[in-house]
Amino acid sequence: MVRDGEGRGLPLPGESDGPVLSGEAGGPVPPRESDGRVTLPAAQQPDWPDPAGVEAVRAELRGALPLVIPGECDLLTSRIAAVARGEAFLLQGGDCAETFAGVQADPVRAKVRTLLQMALVLTYAAAVPVVKVGRMAGQYAKPRSEATETRDGLTLPAYRGDAVNDVAFTPEARALDPRRLLRTHQAAAATLNLIRAFTTGGYADLRQAHAWNQDFVARSPVGDRYAELAIQIDQALNFMRACGIDEPVQHAVEFFVSHEGLLLDYEEPLVREDPLTGRMYSSSGHMLWIGERTRQLDGAHVEFFSRIANPIAVKLGPGTSADTVLSLIDRLDPQREPGRLTFVVRMGSELVRDRLPPLVEKAAGHGAAVTWVCDPMHGNTFKAPSGHKTRSFDAIADEVKGFFEVHHDLGTHPGGLHLEFTGGDVTECVGGGTDVLLEDLADRYESACDPRLNRTQSLDLAFLVAGMYSP
Ligand code: PEP
Ligand code: MN
Repeated sequence: MVRDGEGRGLPLPGESDGPVLSGEAGGPVPPRESDGRVTLPAAQQPDWPDPAGVEAVRAELRGALPLVIPGECDLLTSRIAAVARGEAFLLQGGDCAETFAGVQADPVRAKVRTLLQMALVLTYAAAVPVVKVGRMAGQYAKPRSEATETRDGLTLPAYRGDAVNDVAFTPEARALDPRRLLRTHQAAAATLNLIRAFTTGGYADLRQAHAWNQDFVARSPVGDRYAELAIQIDQALNFMRACGIDEPVQHAVEFFVSHEGLLLDYEEPLVREDPLTGRMYSSSGHMLWIGERTRQLDGAHVEFFSRIANPIAVKLGPGTSADTVLSLIDRLDPQREPGRLTFVVRMGSELVRDRLPPLVEKAAGHGAAVTWVCDPMHGNTFKAPSGHKTRSFDAIADEVKGFFEVHHDLGTHPGGLHLEFTGGDVTECVGGGTDVLLEDLADRYESACDPRLNRTQSLDLAFLVAGMYSP
């Protein structure tokens, strides 16, 4: 199901994370309390059992250290403004749902490496600067279509992300616990600290481009293709060194983090004022987005996002009307600030060519320099015979192709990709160069929520997109 412009549900194929409905999880949306926070109805909030406990957590978060600072957020806004002008490409990706157990050096490094390798392919093969944004260091909350889940006659609360409860199917694990919001902040801080180390401490040096190509990827066809590219990069670097060119940009990368700004009990207390300008910023991540299920124009999320100065994004499903897009622009980017507002389109491979053009055309006529990004994951989900939620590489590639075709026809810029991937050799999406089959899904299906591209499939996609890209 997707929510249409009026907030009613209408069924569509290939929906993921469950149906999309106004209010969600059944029943009316509760109004939020009036204490200086957003008081509009907020969809998809956990029904915490202990309101006093939530207040204590909010108070602690109000005193917590910021994870990011305004200057970094403004830098990302300026980078995304270049994307909107057609001078750069935005690559955003990571897990559907990060987990506390995943706060470990290996998985974090592997995700960073996937993004770096994809960015390198795009930068070198398509000759376009890539703005790198992880779905990392904060992606711990999930919107759900049903408040509960039933297995073998036992009904428990749905898993809402590690920020709210645990994925294990026991009453203890599924209990909603607001103190997990504090662990979320710690997990995000530790992850971001590692990311900063990996991206500035030598690991992201272009001389390491070969070393990133290890393990299972090196043994795949796309690994060979990548190795050739790394050799060419080495030669280019040798040439530059011989010419006396050695720039800091060769040794470190700019890397930003983003997540869905879903849980207002987490996001509201982490807003900080920039002492230099008096503007309010989310300190929980550089970029936040509003999900397809929480972008009601009269809802708390749009209101909250209108108050923060970070670069922000909104997911748009196939039921989105052009009027909704124009209203979102007016609410979220009234100053028409380049780089401020990104639309992440997730229509499905069968609908993108039909549904996207009127939205892009109307937005272009509305005076906003918005950035268009393609999420080819969330409109292409289906259930395998084995019961696994999966996505086919071909449908993902076809949605990206459709997205590029639409922009090519309209003379607008296909600004980027928003992906769910991991650094490991998982078997969650089918197809791609090493051809994961439906029968293989059970082998290494590790996602806590939606199926992710593995690193080979991610690189396959990067080469495909590099071929489609003509700035
Ligand atoms: C997601 O990005 O994991 C997600 C839930 O997406 P959407 O809001 O587009 O359904
Ligand atoms: Mn997802």
